Amino acid sequence: MFLKVSLYISLVIFLLALIYKVASWFRYRIGIGAEKISTSTRVFSAVKGILSTIFSAKILTLLKVFVLDVLLQFRILRENFLRWVMHIFIYGGFMLLLLMHALDKTITVALWKDYIPTLNPFMFLRDLFGAMVIVGVIIAIFRRFILKVPRLFSNAMDVYAILIVAIIMLSGIFLEATKMVAYSDYKRMADEYSGLSDPEELKSLEAYWVKEFGTISPNLKEPFDEKILAKGKELHESSCAGCHARPQWAFTGYGAAKIISPFGLGIDRAHLPRYLWYLHVLACMIGLAYLPFSKMFHIFASSISLLANGVIGKEKLAPANRATLQAMELDACTHCGTCSLRCSVMMAFEEIANTNILPSEKIASVKALASGKELSPRELRHIQEGVTLCTNCYRCTVVCPAGINLQDLWFHVRETLLQKGYPELLVLSPLSFYRGLMKEETVWKDYEKPLIQAREAIAAQCDLMKRKDKVLPLTPTNKTLQGGLNLSSQAKTFSACFGCQTCTTVCPVVGNYKNPQEALGLLPHQIMHAAGLGLRDLAFGSNMLWDCLTCYQCQEQCPQGVHVTDVLYELKNLAVKQVREKTLLSMGRK
Ligand code: SF4
Ligand code: SF4
Ligand code: SF4
Ligand code: SF4
Repeated sequence: MFLKVSLYISLVIFLLALIYKVASWFRYRIGIGAEKISTSTRVFSAVKGILSTIFSAKILTLLKVFVLDVLLQFRILRENFLRWVMHIFIYGGFMLLLLMHALDKTITVALWKDYIPTLNPFMFLRDLFGAMVIVGVIIAIFRRFILKVPRLFSNAMDVYAILIVAIIMLSGIFLEATKMVAYSDYKRMADEYSGLSDPEELKSLEAYWVKEFGTISPNLKEPFDEKILAKGKELHESSCAGCHARPQWAFTGYGAAKIISPFGLGIDRAHLPRYLWYLHVLACMIGLAYLPFSKMFHIFASSISLLANGVIGKEKLAPANRATLQAMELDACTHCGTCSLRCSVMMAFEEIANTNILPSEKIASVKALASGKELSPRELRHIQEGVTLCTNCYRCTVVCPAGINLQDLWFHVRETLLQKGYPELLVLSPLSFYRGLMKEETVWKDYEKPLIQAREAIAAQCDLMKRKDKVLPLTPTNKTLQGGLNLSSQAKTFSACFGCQTCTTVCPVVGNYKNPQEALGLLPHQIMHAAGLGLRDLAFGSNMLWDCLTCYQCQEQCPQGVHVTDVLYELKNLAVKQVREKTLLSMGRK
């Protein structure tokens, strides 16, 4: 009764939560234009997309992704063998236990008519699957808390996931162990099923179970007479063996039974098997009911993300489907930290204590943003800094085992924030190249907005930018500028420039203008020269500096090995730093 009631309650909660979570994929809004797409349009578009995929040749790709990436987790295997073992053991062991053990009356009985859980292969398999999960959990604890994989953060969800799985497994193993040692369990079975009434025969059977099955009897203790054991064996084989395999096959429970056997009688008197059964059932039901709200929900979401991104490929996605996909991807993240380990801007994270720089941590904040939750200016600022420092380098997307298109996600989040009018000075730094490539995706009238905002802020510090003629009396040599550039080994290469103009000749931005000097001010080789002379305002004020696409053509072609693009980066950073210090002071943050 308890089992049925708790199962139905948790199933109802699970299903309602599942519907709620899936519905949120159609409600949450991130990305360019997502606000304007209604939920019904998104549902319709998703159904259309799914049907057109299923009834096309893409079904083969879908099957391939399902086998290789969803079932066999090849994406994790490519990254790290230990993680793959951990994942396969937890995920595989748990699913097999669920199907064969928890749903035995529905699935196992239907498949094997003679299924008896205390007989092999079922008894051995149950323990094998349980042992797989335990080993997986031990590896997870080892990686997170002992090995301390760099930039792998553990939040409450991670701890809860490990904890609930550990409680389910340990309560199951100790339930099995206490049942092995409990005399009352043996007595009940002997009375109900053996059909014996002769005290001598009952004594022989009991002795055999004490010796071979680990039962702790209040009446009998080892050693036993060989004849009694032989008789007991005979009775066991005629009355019990049809339902009970040797307990050693249940190796985890048997091992635990050996450990607790000195306390066997007390365990039985305290009815511990019964309490452990309640604990095991409750833990399973709580785990089931809470699953859609927990990290474990990624079991569904990651699989869908892998399948969806597997068939989408490089195709242009309908805006409605992209909005839904990105909302779903937020649930697909397993918080495994692989992306953060490979992130190109992890060095920035070492300098700026903002966890939103790391992709694995940014996901949770973006989820809060997408849900429409009211975020404080400080939280928004942190997200904005995180997505803006991102270079859209694609490294996180390549390694993400959940197949999330993180590059696209960060781009869309950043554009959404920019459209909402959150100023970001760093918009002119590394992200410019990818943003340029994705120009078509942005709302055209807004494309220039952040650039203009940032330029105005810089211009407030650099008089040259405000002058129409761009001609200023040369500012005095600025030693701070040279000092700043000398901070990085790449940047200080500007001093090797001999003015050959190769960088300017190969620059696609320069090549884009009929009169580049007029549009851009100083050209790349001239900026190198200005840096050499320490002419700060002249360098900062050049439009070329801010229009640079970071394509690295100039740097690759320079015969002197000048790291032209890196010098431009450093100059921008120096300019932005000056402005940020003043702007952020007014926002209460330095
Ligand atoms: S795309 Fe952005 S978040 Fe991803 S690895 Fe590159 S810099 Fe890091
Ligand atoms: S985004 Fe992908 S790689 Fe990063 S933590 Fe989530 S699942 Fe792991
Ligand atoms: S290509 Fe190199 S050496 Fe030539 S002008 Fe440019 S930075 Fe100077
Ligand atoms: S990286 Fe060099 S070549 Fe490329 S746009 Fe910038 S200045 Fe021009």
